[in-house]
Amino acid sequence: MVAPVAPGSGSLAGMRCPFCAVDDTRVVDSRPADGGRAIRRRRECAGCGNRFTTYERREPTVMVRKRDGSLQPFDAEKVLRGMSNALADREVAPGVLDQLVRDIEAFAHDHGPVVSSDEIGRQVLAGLRVIDEIAYLRFASVYKSFTGASDFEREMAAMEGDDDAAPET
Ligand SMILES: [Zn+2]
Repeated sequence: MVAPVAPGSGSLAGMRCPFCAVDDTRVVDSRPADGGRAIRRRRECAGCGNRFTTYERREPTVMVRKRDGSLQPFDAEKVLRGMSNALADREVAPGVLDQLVRDIEAFAHDHGPVVSSDEIGRQVLAGLRVIDEIAYLRFASVYKSFTGASDFEREMAAMEGDDDAAPET
């Protein structure tokens, strides 16, 4: 029989010591942080005796309301793929696209728990406009041609299946 690990005591396996890389660390203190949204843990390494701090947080979920009214979890990967396709053959400095995706994700969290797919689309457009005008125009031409039944996410999904070709301008 395996005894459950009581909060704040015992050993939670798998957290590697940053000082000596031993996996054998134990929790010596555990308390709420960030207004109860996180748990702060002090850990002590059995190998070298050093202590370090970890935080455990619930991953927040932002929902995207599509034009048909349905809700889907915000998916940063999907946003990244949509923008990557618009940028297909364009030169972009390393890290710029990742930063933009993080900005859009932060926007979604700031405006959550529910944001519309249109709001996300406008953020993508605004970001692309700053980093590459051609990609912006490509994305805008797809985005603005949306009509009633079609929606942003479906267009993005369609672009995913067409990796070799950029969206038509
Ligand atoms: Zn250690």
